[in-house]
Parts: sequence; C-alpha cells; structure tokens
Amino acid sequence: MNKLYREVLMDELGYTHSGDQVIPKFPIRTVGHSTYAEQCKTMEWYTLKDRLMHKANYMCTQCGNPNERLEIDHIAYVPGRKAWQYTDDYFQVLCSPCHRRVTAERKKAKESNG
Ligand SMILES: [Zn+2]
Repeated sequence: MNKLYREVLMDELGYTHSGDQVIPKFPIRTVGHSTYAEQCKTMEWYTLKDRLMHKANYMCTQCGNPNERLEIDHIAYVPGRKAWQYTDDYFQVLCSPCHRRVTAERKKAKESNG
C-alpha cells in the first residue's frame, strides 16, 4: 500500500485504519446515496478505488508519477448507476494534474463534437 495515497484517502473519506483493517469514522449507509459526492464516501466506492489503485500499482497510468496525489477518473457515466456499479474499464487511475488535463480535454472534445 502506497503510504501517501492511503493517508490522503483516509483523510479525505474520513476512514481510519488499524493494521490492515479499514474502519469508517462515520456510519456507512449502503442505500440512498443520491449525489456522486455522497457515493464517494461509501465503503463500496472505497473498496473499488482501493482495488483500482492496487491494480495500477499506486501510480498514475498516464505519467507514472507515484508521488502525486492519485485520483480515479470516471471515463463515462450511465444515468442511474451508482459510482461503483461500473466495470473496471470505466475508470483509470490518474494523478491530480493528469486528471485535470484529461477532464479538460474530454470537455473540449465534447464541445467540439456538438
Ligand atoms: Zn499523471
């Protein structure tokens, strides 16, 4: 486990850990998450994110930088689906700068396609 990533994640999501066990600092609801931000505070999302990060060896898949803060880029959205109800190919692990760049490029491409 990438220490930096784990600390950032714990801090961000309000999870703490003792040894290998991840303990939420707040009660986890598994239904009724209406916003994406809420969905990103669930154990389902945390588990998925953790698995995707692990698969990417805790490095940005674009630039390979292991020292930047890592984020999950959601490549496409399907209405009505929860953030974790996607297959792995809907996501890519990116560092913060790459994530910003990719998001801006995608937005631009979408605009020019009408
Ligand atoms: Zn990167």
